[in-house]
Amino acid sequence: MSELELTDITKSYGKTRALDGVSLRVRDGEFFTLVGPSGCGKTTTLRTVAGFESSDAGEVRIGGQSVADVPPEDRDIGVVFQNYALFPHMTVAENVAYGLRFRDPPGGVSRDERVSELLSLVDLDGFEEREPDELSGGQRQRIALARALAPGPDLLLLDEPMSALDARLRKSLRRQLQTIQSDLGVTTLYVTHDQNEALAISDRLAVMNGGRIEQVGSPRDVYRRPETPFVAEFIGDNNVFAGAVSQASAPEDRSVLDFAGTPIELPRIDADSALVCVRPEALRLGSGTNQLTANIVASEYLGGSVRLHLRWGDQELVALTDRAPPDEQIVIGFEPEDIHVVTTDPDSEAV
Ligand code: ATP
Repeated sequence: MSELELTDITKSYGKTRALDGVSLRVRDGEFFTLVGPSGCGKTTTLRTVAGFESSDAGEVRIGGQSVADVPPEDRDIGVVFQNYALFPHMTVAENVAYGLRFRDPPGGVSRDERVSELLSLVDLDGFEEREPDELSGGQRQRIALARALAPGPDLLLLDEPMSALDARLRKSLRRQLQTIQSDLGVTTLYVTHDQNEALAISDRLAVMNGGRIEQVGSPRDVYRRPETPFVAEFIGDNNVFAGAVSQASAPEDRSVLDFAGTPIELPRIDADSALVCVRPEALRLGSGTNQLTANIVASEYLGGSVRLHLRWGDQELVALTDRAPPDEQIVIGFEPEDIHVVTTDPDSEAV
């Protein structure tokens, strides 16, 4: 069992509180991602798990055991960082074998055999004698992954391993990483600031903000049902509306949110105010139960769809449609059932 559990971790650097009570549980074999903006505490969390940082308070448990007194090299953890960190003067084989410096290869095989196994796993058979500067960025990261996996760790930690790569390479490496991770079943904690990557790659993810975890869930849950205003804004280009809620002018099963004078019908809620969100793909060109006339600020052609950036009063909106309309001003519609209520106490949290 290599479940990872963090309980109430806090960590400050001088006056900066990097982690402010972080608790989470990564299940055995799970691909779990920490996602959040720069400076929210992702790397500090990962370094605390690896034992490169000690927390001020709280506990890290791996496989049910506290690792408070276990030094990094004895934690059975493989780590891959953003900037490859391969040794330039060592061959690929020596770099991978470096992962075995504290530990014999698993399965009773020789070091050379283990290196070949790992190179095969990352699809770089025959690269043993190459030097790192003879490799592409994607190949270097696959070697870094092979090195981290060489001792057969209980836990794999990955800190923005693809951020230095171009978009096409990132996509193919992401697929490769997912396959390797699920084939090996190694419990994985992955750090990224890229919400699309987090949604695409993870079994579950935690959205971090200001040293705290705002929400943990499956990609679908976090995308469709954000629980805080921050998550609603950070994940998936959501359109956010806040205002007073009344039942007076609404049909029986609905409430009406007064958004700067414009009524927005939503499924009935028992509240005086609310912050709600609507996903970009739920905004349709043309009329609907709720409709707004908005100006097109920009449109991005995405191949299969078009992302329209719209302005309605002071509010920016994003719609995902199948075409870019020729007009500057358009009517967009959306239905009450496409509205997700994030909170009925919007004043208590910063938006
Ligand atoms: P990024 O995506 O930019 O890497 P992050 O989410 O990984 O950011 P951390 O690197 O964990 O964030 O940093 C969290 C906070 O702690 C930030 O405010 C950062 O400036 C601060 N911090 C991190 N390491 C140190 C350090 N060694 N000394 C002082 N402050 C630090």
